[in-house]
Amino acid sequence: MYSCIMLPSKYVQGRAVLPLIGEFLVRLGKRALLLRGKTTASIVDTAITAGLQEQGIELAKVDFGGECSEDEITRVAEIARAEAADIIIGAGGGKVIDVVKSVGYPADLAVVMVPTIAATDAPTSSVVVLYTAAGVFAGVRFYGKNPDLVLVDVETIARAPVRYLVAGMGDALSTWFEADTARRAHRPNTSGGLATQAALKWARLCYETLLADGLAARRAVEKGVVTPAVERIVEANILLSGIGAESGGLAAAHSVHNGLTVLPETAHYYHGEKVAFGTLTQLVLEGRRTDEMREVAEFCLSVGLPLTLGELGVTNLSPENLMPAAELACAPGEIIHNEPFPVTPQMVYEAMLAADALGKEWSAQRKG
Ligand SMILES: [Zn+2]
Repeated sequence: MYSCIMLPSKYVQGRAVLPLIGEFLVRLGKRALLLRGKTTASIVDTAITAGLQEQGIELAKVDFGGECSEDEITRVAEIARAEAADIIIGAGGGKVIDVVKSVGYPADLAVVMVPTIAATDAPTSSVVVLYTAAGVFAGVRFYGKNPDLVLVDVETIARAPVRYLVAGMGDALSTWFEADTARRAHRPNTSGGLATQAALKWARLCYETLLADGLAARRAVEKGVVTPAVERIVEANILLSGIGAESGGLAAAHSVHNGLTVLPETAHYYHGEKVAFGTLTQLVLEGRRTDEMREVAEFCLSVGLPLTLGELGVTNLSPENLMPAAELACAPGEIIHNEPFPVTPQMVYEAMLAADALGKEWSAQRKG
């Protein structure tokens, strides 16, 4: 077994970097298709349009249909072909970005990510999460390629609602624990190899950055401003979490997220919000020490991430309601089987209940 790390070709992050997009794209192609998400403000659209025009790159635009589903991928791929695009740009959130990967990689287009929120690590990774048209988790696809350019304008991200940044911290919260578990179990990451030292270090740095800067970044973005803490959290949410998850390894936390998507009550909660609860569930499942779990819980409470099933809309904790989620979390091929011991749906159900009980107790203590 070998070690392997996968990285985007170029990652650019800073204030006012959007107008520079043309300079970065000029060597990548001549005709671009821009997929615009619902969170793409006109200011982003205008900056991309002007930046490409400056360099003589043709630009066509299409609005995102709302879900990263097979139908949406086929629709956008047809438009890319009709436009003879050699570059595809995704401006928006994680689902826009996943459609852009699914269209761009098979057609060998240059793939460019312009995240407008920092709610997931999707912009950095090669992995695509597919959903049904109704938004239920439908599987994961691996392309074995990472974006040619990830262009992160922190001012755009700081202007977006703070809940996105916090959800991104939830996605980043699992990174170290999943990578560390995969390492201990000698399980390959999604690149097919074992974790390099670099990926593990970055996964650990991701967690340490959350603890150090999470609350300060939240407060700054509530005011719509960029501070060094915001810059470090954006890097943790998008870059460190992406590399840590893809080239470190995954385990129970993301499988618990995948399972929770089967419960319609959780539909309005973001990926990272469910992953945060999945992280606590993973720690319970692994029999971690209370102080380790408490550190994670205190972080969630400080930045406002859900710690209980009730905070994800799930109030019916009966086995009839929760077992389908536990079963989906343990489906064949799920990453939960990267845990260094056999995991059953019953174990996941019990870990979710126990995590929920701890979450309730720690929330109550904090309020009291
Ligand atoms: Zn994730």
